[in-house]
Amino acid sequence: MKPYAFGIDIGGTTVKCGFFNSDGTFVEKWEIPTRKEDDGAMILPDIAEAIKAKLAEHGVSMDDVEGIGVGVPGPVLDDGVVNGCVNLGWGVFNVAEKLSGLLGDVPVQVGNDANVAALGEQWLGGGKGFKNVVMVTLGTGVGGGIIIGGKILAGSHGAGGEIGHIQMRKNETAVCGCGKKGCLEQYASATGIVRMSKILLEKDKNDSSLRSLAEITSKDIFDAAKTGDALSLKLVDTLGEMLGTALAHITAVVDPDVIVIGGGVSKAGQILLDAIEKHYRPVAFHACRSTQFKLAVLGNDAGMYGAVRMVLNR
Ligand SMILES: [Zn+2]
Repeated sequence: MKPYAFGIDIGGTTVKCGFFNSDGTFVEKWEIPTRKEDDGAMILPDIAEAIKAKLAEHGVSMDDVEGIGVGVPGPVLDDGVVNGCVNLGWGVFNVAEKLSGLLGDVPVQVGNDANVAALGEQWLGGGKGFKNVVMVTLGTGVGGGIIIGGKILAGSHGAGGEIGHIQMRKNETAVCGCGKKGCLEQYASATGIVRMSKILLEKDKNDSSLRSLAEITSKDIFDAAKTGDALSLKLVDTLGEMLGTALAHITAVVDPDVIVIGGGVSKAGQILLDAIEKHYRPVAFHACRSTQFKLAVLGNDAGMYGAVRMVLNR
């Protein structure tokens, strides 16, 4: 094993870059802007230049780099082909080959960002010590990643772990970002619980501290629930029901050791885990009824850790 590696997490506004020692500790981490003009044509060249500059700064040769792991916001096939990243303007092309070519043929591994974050959490975060981990990221949407035997389950179409688009309600009229109706992320994401709060505040005429807020965030809802606000407790319970039910379906197929809950919404902490587990346990298949639930611990660094893990774990 060579002494260094890079973990790169490409997001819609910034690229998080991690320069790592091969034991998984950071040498340094930094960010560069994601240039999306010209269909994102400059994103990989920018990353290549940033890596070269960082190596020069530290006096390290490319020969001492084991590889570069990259997380991208779109479906990724096994050989590093990205099947379109709408957020970046990318169509279908081999990201691993392209970036490797820009960096003297250093090995490059590419994964979907949610899957890669799950790998990071399995390696050094909430799933540390376990081989089989399901991670759910509750942010603007609901992302997911499935790690089996320490490896990402990417699937045949790069859609492995797309937990957010499991259909939970057949009679939903609102449309999800994916074009379907009734997806988990329409109820269980930060955006989803805020959307549900507007519907409930309209329907339920009881008093709630949420009514005094000009703009409601998911944090407001969890904060109010913690103080006993009945309407907020109902919203948190609905989110728990949606996630708990979906995760019971998933564990019947995947049977992980642990389910890790991450993303901005997970900052709510124990109240969130309690709401999910309350609905999970009664409907889960008996053999996986006691599956553990844990909060993610790596935060925004999970993607960089998971990305570098891909090259250190080949
Ligand atoms: Zn959807």
